[in-house]
Amino acid sequence: MTLLQELESAQTRNAQTYIGQLLETVKKRNPNEPEFHQAVEEVLHSLIPVLARHPHYIEQAVIDRLVEPDRLISFRVPWIDDRGQVQVNRGFRVQFSNAIGPYKGGLRFHPSVNASIIKFLGFEQIFKNSLTGQPIGGGKGGSDFDPKGKSDREIMRFCQSFMTELSQHIGADIDVPAGDIGVGAREIGYLFGQYKKMVGAYEAGVLTGKGIGYGGSLGRKEATGYGAVYFVEHMLRDAGLGFAGSTVVVSGSGNVSIYAMEKAMQLGAKVVACSDSNGYIYHKEGICLDTIKKLKEVDNKRCQDYVLEHPDALYIEGCSGIWTLPCDIALPCATQNEIDRAAAERLVQNGVKAVGEGANMPSTLEAVEVFLAHNVLFAPAKAANAGGVSVSALEMSQNSARLSWTLEEVDAKLQQIMLHIYRASTDAAEQYGAPGNLVVGANIAGFVKVAEAMLAQGV
Ligand code: GLU
Repeated sequence: MTLLQELESAQTRNAQTYIGQLLETVKKRNPNEPEFHQAVEEVLHSLIPVLARHPHYIEQAVIDRLVEPDRLISFRVPWIDDRGQVQVNRGFRVQFSNAIGPYKGGLRFHPSVNASIIKFLGFEQIFKNSLTGQPIGGGKGGSDFDPKGKSDREIMRFCQSFMTELSQHIGADIDVPAGDIGVGAREIGYLFGQYKKMVGAYEAGVLTGKGIGYGGSLGRKEATGYGAVYFVEHMLRDAGLGFAGSTVVVSGSGNVSIYAMEKAMQLGAKVVACSDSNGYIYHKEGICLDTIKKLKEVDNKRCQDYVLEHPDALYIEGCSGIWTLPCDIALPCATQNEIDRAAAERLVQNGVKAVGEGANMPSTLEAVEVFLAHNVLFAPAKAANAGGVSVSALEMSQNSARLSWTLEEVDAKLQQIMLHIYRASTDAAEQYGAPGNLVVGANIAGFVKVAEAMLAQGV
C-alpha cells in the first residue's frame, strides 16, 4: 500500500466512525422515528467517500447541522364536520434547510402522517431540491387528516383551519408548500384562498400547484410522473435499453402514477398494472389510462371499479401482490416502503431490468441492496421524482416574473432538468468510486451544493 492509499483508507475509516456515531446520535435524539432514521441512514452512508476526501465537512459539523431541522412546527387543527361536530387533527411543517433557497416541499394529508414521516420527507427534500439545480431549500408538512370520504365543504374547512396557523410560518421568500399525497389542486386552492385572507395580499408564489387560472403552471400536474419516466429513459438508454416494447408495472393511481403511466405509454411501453390503497388491477393487454383518469380524477372512485368496464382485467385485494407480477420496469409511485426485501427479490426473480422510484422512499434499505446486488438499474426517488418540485420552482419563477410559459416551454425545461439531474448523479457516482450507483451519486451531488452554501454562510 502506498503512503497515499494508506492516508485515504485512514480517512475512510475516520469518516465511517464519524457517520456511525452521528447515526447513533440521530437515533437517540429522535426516538420512535423509524422513517426518519431510514432516510438519514441512506444518505449518510453514501456520504462516506465525500467525507474521506473532504474532512473539513466533518470539522465544520456540516452533517451534524443538516440532520437537525431549522425548526419543526406542530399545531392543532380544529375544524367542524358536516354533522356539526368539532374535529381535531395535528398539523406539521418541518423547515429543514434554507441554505440554497426558501424552504420548499409538499403537504401530505394522510392518516399515517406523524413527525417521523414529515421529517423523513423534509430531509429527503433538501437533497432532491438541490439536485434540481434550482434555488430551493428543503421543507415538508402535512396532517394526519384523512381526506378519504370527506365532503368538499369538510375539505375546505379543514384547509382553512390548517392555513390559519400555517400562514404565520410561510411566504414566497420564506417557505413555499405544495401538494403531496392527499393534497392536489383543490386543496391548494382552499389553502391559497385562506392565506390571502390571513395576510391581506395576493402573494402568488407562496404555494405551488395552484390552478392554472390563478398562478399555477401548465405541466405541474404531469411533472412528477413525466419527470420520473424521462429520468428512467436516460438510465435505460445508457444501458442500451428503452421503454419501447417493455412491460411496466406502476403502483399507485394518484398524480404521480397516472402521468408516469401516460409518459411510459407514449414512449411505447405496455403498462399492465396499477393500484390504490385497497388493491391492484392487472390488465395483461395493457391498462386503459382513460378509464383510470375518469375513475380517479373525475369520479373519485376506487381501482376496483376498473373491472366493471374491462372485464378481461383482474382486480386483486391488497397492494403488495403487485410486485409479484412479471415486468421489465417497475415504477413504485404509491408511498414509502412499499417494496421490501421479499418484493425486491421477487421482482429480480421475474427478470426486472429497471426500477424507478416515483414515490418518496418506496424501497426499504434492504430492497435497494437487493436491486444493486443484482445489477438492476435503479433510479432513486431523490433523483427520479424531482420533476414535480422542479416544475414547482418553475411556477415560482413564473409568479415572480408575473408571466406564464406554455406547456411546451415547461416540458422542455423539465426535460432539461431531468437530464441535468441524471448527469449530475452519474458524474458524482463516477467521481466518488461508485460508477452506475445512482443512490450514491444523487445523494452526493445533492449534498455538496448544500454543504458548500452552508460553509459559505457560516455557522
Ligand atoms: N411533494 C412533491 C415532492 O415530494 C412536490 C413538492 C413541491 O412541489 O414542492 O417532491
